[in-house]
Amino acid sequence: MKVRIARRAGFCMGVRRAMRLALKAAETSSKPVYTYGPLIHNPQVLALLERIGVRDLHRSAKAEDGVVIIRAHGIPPREKKALLSSGLEVIDGTCPRVAKVQALARKYSREGYRVIIIGDRDHAEVRGILGYTGGQGLVVSNLRDLEQLPPLEKYVILSQTTQDEEVFEMLSREILSRFPGGKVINTICHATHVRQESVRELARSCEAIIVVGGRGSANTNRLAQIAREEGCEALLVETPEEIPLEEISRFRTVGVSAGASTPNWIINGVVERLAEHRNPLRRWLRLSLYLHLPLALSAALLLAGTGLWFKGGVHPPGLLLVFLMVFFAHTWNSLVAREILALCHPYKAALYRRHEKILVPLLLLGFTLSLGLAYLQGPVVFVFTALAGGGSALYSLTSLRRLFPGNRPLFVAFFWTLLILVVASLPPLWSLKAGALVYLLVFYQIFYQDILDLLEDGFLGRESLAAFLEEKRALKLLGLLPGGGLILNAVLFLSGGSSYLFLLPLWVYLWFLARYLGKKPLGRRLILEYLSLSPSLLYLLLGFLARGF
Ligand code: SF4
Repeated sequence: MKVRIARRAGFCMGVRRAMRLALKAAETSSKPVYTYGPLIHNPQVLALLERIGVRDLHRSAKAEDGVVIIRAHGIPPREKKALLSSGLEVIDGTCPRVAKVQALARKYSREGYRVIIIGDRDHAEVRGILGYTGGQGLVVSNLRDLEQLPPLEKYVILSQTTQDEEVFEMLSREILSRFPGGKVINTICHATHVRQESVRELARSCEAIIVVGGRGSANTNRLAQIAREEGCEALLVETPEEIPLEEISRFRTVGVSAGASTPNWIINGVVERLAEHRNPLRRWLRLSLYLHLPLALSAALLLAGTGLWFKGGVHPPGLLLVFLMVFFAHTWNSLVAREILALCHPYKAALYRRHEKILVPLLLLGFTLSLGLAYLQGPVVFVFTALAGGGSALYSLTSLRRLFPGNRPLFVAFFWTLLILVVASLPPLWSLKAGALVYLLVFYQIFYQDILDLLEDGFLGRESLAAFLEEKRALKLLGLLPGGGLILNAVLFLSGGSSYLFLLPLWVYLWFLARYLGKKPLGRRLILEYLSLSPSLLYLLLGFLARGF
């Protein structure tokens, strides 16, 4: 069974923006946080919001103090005015594209036009737009509604942003044929159009389509309907666990698409479940990621590479020491912070919850073993290993996480660099050069993983640099880091080491990696995570090459 993923699926810009406003308010505000109606039509995401204390205002007892977020659909102006004078702090999450339709409705109604909105009359967005028509608005949802229309002369037709293109065209044509001379403005959002086109394309090359999203979400149901219209078997699921694997495996090609209210972590979960059914080995690869084993291996490779590049003394026990300490520190932090982790990586957090009794002794054993290995290397290595390991393990327990926004990659890179330099036992001048290089590489890897988390649409704490910078700026900074590497490379070269020219392909590779991540490929979480560790391997291989010359 082949799995294909729709070119565009999942959160649209407006929903993602409203979600991030809500998550940010939940983290930074000391007051209760509410949403004006359910933020999106997705029960899993609503449950996640409830867990961090974000509730629907309409389902809460009288709220007098707090922050309220207007959802992407927007609300009628009268309701907004009432909200603003209620004493609650209002954060307007109305999607800018919906706000544009509201502005059109207001403009035309002020100019004396009747405003016809083609859309679902019970939908919050349509009710919101209608509020801007000053009583001059009419809603047309289907052909039957045309019979109720009064005679029209000066009028404009607008659409709900998530309206189906074909329905809009058919209904506006009908209205124009009955009442010639009207203006038509297609305000269907590009995001809706692209998602519908993507599922159409996908359906043509698949035997079955799995549409991921809330059952109550109109745009999700519409995607399933489009797939069926293309002659495909379509299945709507809310979570990966709902996939009927036996039934699905009779198809040779299965497509995955998702509604605009489905976060990427659910889409990736669905793709991963299908892929694991096909290839059970992937399950182990995923588990090893959850235990940070590849990350620990990456640290050991960095140590080995540093030994080659800077002529340090690296022995197998040192490699094992670093491997065990990084495994301990990262997995320990995830275990301690599993309640926060559940908001971003629910599947990973569930594993920690299930296996806590095995994990704690395993981690303590790893920590003790790495300290034992450090002790064998001498008192200095022992003390610094204990400091680096202990310091990073305390990260989730202390207020270090909240010290300043975006601190995680800075601290992690510091602890890793300290550990690697101490175990490599370099002379002071070499330590300075190696330290700068290792710090940059670790920072890149951890920051890359932070961005990966951000692209999953989950809740990230204040410590995430990617969440602090937001997607565009974070990806830009990641793309700039190889430039920093080039400058460092030039300094190393000028300080008398022609062999450092062999490091040049590393920066080119990091740049390509950042570019690939910038394409935000959906359903590729596993491969993207493993790719984040590849710079350490390349660093080591280039070290071998440089040594050979
Ligand atoms: S579908 Fe378009 S208009 Fe509607 S919330 Fe999403 S981005 Fe905004």
